[in-house]
Amino acid sequence: MTLHRDQPIPEPPATTLDCLIVGGGIHGVHVAARLIGEAGVPADRLRILDPGARLLERWRSRTATTGMSHLRSPSVHHLDLDPMSLQRFAGKRTRRTAGLFTPPFERPALELFNAHCDHVEEAFGLAGLHLRDRAVGCAVDETGVEVQLGGGGVVRTDHLVLAMGIGERPRWPDWAPREDPGIHHVFDPGFDDWPVDRSSVAVVGGGISAGHVALRLLSEGHRVELVSRHPLRQHQFDSDPGWLGPKFTMKFHREPDFDRRRAMITEARHVGSVPPEMGRALRRAIARGRLAWREHRVTGLERTTAGLRLTLDQAEALEVDRVLLATGFESARPGGPMIDHLVRSESLPCAGCGYPIVDACLRWHPRIFVTGPLAELELGPVSRNIAGARRAGDRIVEALSPPRRAAV
Ligand SMILES: Cc1cc2nc3c(=O)[nH]c(=O)nc-3n(C[C@H](O)[C@H](O)[C@H](O)COP(=O)(O)OP(=O)(O)OC[C@H]3O[C@@H](n4cnc5c(N)ncnc54)[C@H](O)[C@@H]3O)c2cc1C
Repeated sequence: MTLHRDQPIPEPPATTLDCLIVGGGIHGVHVAARLIGEAGVPADRLRILDPGARLLERWRSRTATTGMSHLRSPSVHHLDLDPMSLQRFAGKRTRRTAGLFTPPFERPALELFNAHCDHVEEAFGLAGLHLRDRAVGCAVDETGVEVQLGGGGVVRTDHLVLAMGIGERPRWPDWAPREDPGIHHVFDPGFDDWPVDRSSVAVVGGGISAGHVALRLLSEGHRVELVSRHPLRQHQFDSDPGWLGPKFTMKFHREPDFDRRRAMITEARHVGSVPPEMGRALRRAIARGRLAWREHRVTGLERTTAGLRLTLDQAEALEVDRVLLATGFESARPGGPMIDHLVRSESLPCAGCGYPIVDACLRWHPRIFVTGPLAELELGPVSRNIAGARRAGDRIVEALSPPRRAAV
């Protein structure tokens, strides 16, 4: 079932589904493809619930905002079933035009990756399974799960997959007033308010998104001050590739204490790091005097007649026209009040950090599975990214392939 963009979005189904996936981002879309393609879930008995105008809306808008040209992850990390699918798709489509992949690790161009996402959506008819709404409540009874929709309807399902991601709450530092029109978080929904005049901009943050945004602004002719509270940290990936195999995960899985697992994840993540090629581009821009790098913590901000005045530690200050925050996301458990309520009503187990304690198949309850950040105490530091979606797909397919699907 393939829908074109101008066709109406389907109504909630009247019958009980086999599976409802809450969240139509990287994780929800990949798990949907895996359930249909590998676990034999009939497409008309699966839906993806997401408020976006189309699936993957958030991924597309955020990656476009940064101006990134290529992914950080290798070409085998994508949303289709077969790891070589993206390579094959590129070969067929363009006979390997230069720039489609970049070394090291054959990282795909964003445009190619997104075209391949379209291809996966089409192959599995996923647009036709998209319910454009939000889950606002969720209750489990003896025969299934009932999900209340923000638009007023309900959907009943045998199994629920929670794939809502971490991205609903961009992190706003305390010193940054939300109402000032000169200050934006680059990952706020709908952010597309790039400076058009040649202005001076402070980009706050020290990771890959801050790097992308700073380089984009430089290329558009702005004066850019990159304010980071730490020195430039360089890592190819956001955690060691050893976390994709047994090298590190065996020790992680042997650890029975979930607070210690959380500590292992925190230690393993290269938070606020940039890959080497971006490090080189930033250092080049600094050496040529095009980019000012300020290694400071911002302590305050005030509006003056000239613009915005950032107070930095060690009594430094910075005057700019605009401030763009590239400060990532809040780390609290995703899902908000709906998940808080579900935890209480079903006595779902959580670690000290509030995140789910799940079994090896990512089952939080016999009928409820998790992926993305909600699965990280089982999948480790890669859980949030594309590799994590693939790991989650393996586990959920294992649990929901017949005859196990019928066994709840
Ligand atoms: C700029 C950028 C570049 C990145 N580059 C890479 C990379 O190169 N490689 C890599 O592996 N990873 C990368 N990542 C990290 C990661 O892959 C992404 O963050 C990924 O998009 C997370 O997917 P998700 O499905 O968990 O979350 P999201 O994309 O946030 O999707 C979750 C969806 O759930 C919906 N939702 C939430 N609550 C509800 C509800 N109650 N009811 C219905 N729907 C709900 C949201 O609206 C959203 O559409 C990058 C991230 C960013 C921001």
